[in-house]
Amino acid sequence: MDRQCLECGSKIVGRIDKKFCSDGCRNAYNNKINKDNKNLIRNTNNRLRKNYRVLEMLNPNGKTKVSRSKLIENGFDFNFFTSIYTTKAGTVYYFVYNQGYLPIDGDYYALVTREK
Ligand SMILES: [Zn+2]
Repeated sequence: MDRQCLECGSKIVGRIDKKFCSDGCRNAYNNKINKDNKNLIRNTNNRLRKNYRVLEMLNPNGKTKVSRSKLIENGFDFNFFTSIYTTKAGTVYYFVYNQGYLPIDGDYYALVTREK
């Protein structure tokens, strides 16, 4: 059975466990994977930074209440946070670093700041 290079698709000759036709193709392939991983991390960091800025801007005094639409309007993305804190009473706070938010009545969120 012919084996094909994972990068360029050429036929591979030689050892049975070879996956690439050349060192060049192996490097090109691995660089692409690393680049994708870096992009993923960078994009996630950017989203977190954006969320952090939105919370910081809307909550300059450390405690406030805002509507969900206000958060979304400012580009907040609820899929990105850094930690979850559950109180003994079972209340769940979401944090983006030290900026926290808690869903409350209706479409509102309580914003809180944790000591740095
Ligand atoms: Zn190749």
